[in-house]
Amino acid sequence: MLLAGAGLSQFIPGDFAAESVWPDSVAVAFPYIQKFILHAFDFNLTEYCTAVLRRQHLPGEALRGTSRSAPWYIRYFSMTVKIPISDESYQDVLNWVRERQVKNAKHSDVGDRNQACPISGSTRACTNFIPEIRASQFWFRGRQFEIDQRVADSTDCMLVSTTGHGSNAIFKDMLVEVKKYKEIKNEGKTVIYNGNSGYWHCGKGGRKRKRPLESVILEDGVAESFLEDIQDFKDSAKWYTEFGIPYRRGYLLHGPPGTGKTSFISALAGHFDLNVCILNLGQKNLTDKSLNQMFLDAPENSVILLEDVDAVFGNRAEDKSKNGILSFNGLLNAIDGAASAKGRILFMTTSYLEKLDSALIRPGRVDVKQYIGNATESQVERMFRRFNTACSDEDAKRFVRAIFDRPERPHISLAQLQGLFLRFKRKPADIFSGLATLYE
Ligand code: ADP
Repeated sequence: MLLAGAGLSQFIPGDFAAESVWPDSVAVAFPYIQKFILHAFDFNLTEYCTAVLRRQHLPGEALRGTSRSAPWYIRYFSMTVKIPISDESYQDVLNWVRERQVKNAKHSDVGDRNQACPISGSTRACTNFIPEIRASQFWFRGRQFEIDQRVADSTDCMLVSTTGHGSNAIFKDMLVEVKKYKEIKNEGKTVIYNGNSGYWHCGKGGRKRKRPLESVILEDGVAESFLEDIQDFKDSAKWYTEFGIPYRRGYLLHGPPGTGKTSFISALAGHFDLNVCILNLGQKNLTDKSLNQMFLDAPENSVILLEDVDAVFGNRAEDKSKNGILSFNGLLNAIDGAASAKGRILFMTTSYLEKLDSALIRPGRVDVKQYIGNATESQVERMFRRFNTACSDEDAKRFVRAIFDRPERPHISLAQLQGLFLRFKRKPADIFSGLATLYE
């Protein structure tokens, strides 16, 4: 049997040595002998392995007699790979299996019509037949595998097992295939993971088409300086190692809501081909320990995003978050924790910089602070031109003047402006008539 942690990047073979004692002829016969046993006793291999791993009673009268030989049986008649839920490949394997099964589903659930299809993300394309995955079978390279997510020994994990005897190469091939599948799926997309219950999940809608950087309209030079800084960070791994400085970089974007902070981070991630791992610090059950672990477990090539940090740790004197489990020191420790060899990029956003404890934003935790403010004249003009590609220069200037030539200087966010453009997308010429709504 093979029991291994199965990250796509690191495949750690389990105890395989004992199997080589069998001559080839016996090894060839194993799958057939095993099929016979499975058939004769009518039991499910994964359930059997699971039961033995949990030291439970085996199912079925006929098997009672064999329970003493169970470890032997599992050792020589099956191969299993164990993937912890915290491993990046856990969700990828599930998605891959699900997709194979959708093509040839024998056992399906009729899904909720209002929910998007887990495969396509569309509510229409998938006729709401969702293959049952909990204890399920699939084929790969002419071999049958079973997948079981029900095992919970010390940690949550899934077991992927196949019958037979031989090298673990089949699992390596499978994981390589899963990786290829994932790369194709993610082509041109930014993958968004949400931190929940101590793990990173990429659920429905977690893959978004990359947002072009030009679609986020910021003050001149802001985007360029971030591009340069992040590129420089990515190119400086050796420098960090030489100087013994932890290889990580922290950024804080602050300013009023709706000014493009989150959109900018997502566009930057897309530009650098990075995933975004979003963590809401206010969620229940987040502890110092689990936060630290999540920082360590963040999928490779990701930026970690802590949104609205002021909402949880906005009070300088307060060491507890609102849920009372995650402490302020726990957050600082997670930020200061070990960074991987590929480096860690952390983004935080806040609407209230003044509420943040200086310890949270000191250099080393936050290396670059950037104010992202409400719309300036130049931003309004650029957004107007973007949404009205056929507009004249005169129209663009008139629009800017109509907004800014008011007795009081308006505080309008780009999100508000975007709302206005959307309302008049079919009749852009009429947009001037809607300006009053901006001030309501
Ligand atoms: P924030 O994170 O600052 O609250 P978001 O990035 O969530 O703002 O923006 C909210 C919406 O407004 C998004 O749909 C985004 O497209 C639009 N938006 C906000 N600011 C900008 C901007 N500077 N350029 C382009 N679109 C923007």
